[in-house]
Amino acid sequence: MELVADLHVHTVASGHAFSTIQEIVTQARLKGVKIFGVTDHGPSVAGAPSFHHFRTLRFIPRYIDDVMILRGAEANIIDDKGGVDVPEHCLTRLDYTMAGFHDVAQYRARDIKTNTRAMINVMDNPYVKIITHPGNPKFPIDYDEVVAAAKEKNVALELNNSSFVNTRPGSSINCETIARLAVKYGAFISIGSDAHISFDIGNFDEALKMARKVEISEEKVINSNREILFDFLNIRL
Ligand SMILES: [Zn+2]
Ligand SMILES: [Zn+2]
Repeated sequence: MELVADLHVHTVASGHAFSTIQEIVTQARLKGVKIFGVTDHGPSVAGAPSFHHFRTLRFIPRYIDDVMILRGAEANIIDDKGGVDVPEHCLTRLDYTMAGFHDVAQYRARDIKTNTRAMINVMDNPYVKIITHPGNPKFPIDYDEVVAAAKEKNVALELNNSSFVNTRPGSSINCETIARLAVKYGAFISIGSDAHISFDIGNFDEALKMARKVEISEEKVINSNREILFDFLNIRL
């Protein structure tokens, strides 16, 4: 499986990532990544940009040196009612929004019931297209319920390459469970690098290994080709 886009990329704007868009474009070209999404953290992570950042992503050209740039956010789930920390008047301006749990943000619950409710409710936000790193062991969820809901609500679950490599230890087994359930229910998967420095863009090896292991079909991976991607994200250019 070849991937056409890296939908999970942080820039210096996140406050704890280390590359500019120009540097990311340079690496994207070197690695053959044709499309990437700028998805900096929502405002409740310390050092992350304010909502103005997400309002003004239109200043980023659609193409730089033939690399296509999508405008996104990695919003934080902030409660169990489906709330995120990027306001709606910003979300309407983005190509897509991802949402997930981060222990440095303001969400405090750590029990399965509340986390599951929070993750399923955020899928009802019409702007949220991808749930980031749902296999994070710090936020246990009922995998069966979450994957079934993702299928029903047409939201993709992320296989986050970084979770297998150097962040969120203990994710691997959970990601395998999620991936197997995604196959069972026919839910969509998004594979992202979660790059915090340009050199990590397009690093998908471990996530792809998992996708192959559980035999996820290509048409269920939203970034496996442009048509599926633009259709899934409802992007009309
Ligand atoms: Zn994240
Ligand atoms: Zn991230």
